[in-house]
Amino acid sequence: VEFEHCGFPSLLSSNLRKAGYEAPTPVQMQMVPIGLSGRDVIASADTGSGKTIAFLLPVVVKALEKAVQGVCSPLALILTPTRELAIQIERQAKELVMGIPNMRTALLVGGMPLPPQLHRLKSSIKIVIATPGRLIEILKQKAVQLDKVKILVVDEVDTMLKMGFQQQVLEVLEHVTEEHQTLLASATIPAGTEELAARLVHDPVRIAI
Ligand code: AMP
Repeated sequence: VEFEHCGFPSLLSSNLRKAGYEAPTPVQMQMVPIGLSGRDVIASADTGSGKTIAFLLPVVVKALEKAVQGVCSPLALILTPTRELAIQIERQAKELVMGIPNMRTALLVGGMPLPPQLHRLKSSIKIVIATPGRLIEILKQKAVQLDKVKILVVDEVDTMLKMGFQQQVLEVLEHVTEEHQTLLASATIPAGTEELAARLVHDPVRIAI
């Protein structure tokens, strides 16, 4: 199997090739078709498995499908526990959307100055990559709206819990008011993680690598 034969929009296909991604990793092989089908997913997959591209491909395809002229608020939201992870995710997202018009990303993370992040939100952003605390701060200022989000990713759900972000994740979820698809990734899925996951997904397909 190669990405080239997956029927992605042509710019997305060529961006995959340019980034050096030719064949999907096992988690991508499982998660991408299910993600594209519109089902919710709970994937137990660790860093290094290619999980980021596995959730980003459905995110980008869905954002492209749902992009309507004139809609300026984000169509996709990716929540991750740390700034470092968020930076990695945005880097890979930018590789995928390079040259695609109207697919701008925004990085909303703590530990970096707030004003440039607020400024970035003034342009039409389609994909937000955020850590929970900073996103809530920005939501309180009404500088971003999540009511058009059609696909939500919660990355490293187990780490979110370990870092005490459960309430913040649920608080963000309250702002994602429209019907949406949810993709969860977690290295392990102990009982606590399962409990939080159950509040985020509907009738999920489970993937274990
Ligand atoms: P992740 O598990 O998402 O942290 O990804 C680990 C690394 O694998 C990243 O540096 C990606 O750029 C790379 N990667 C992801 N998917 C592929 C692929 N299909 N082929 C080659 N490298 C990949």
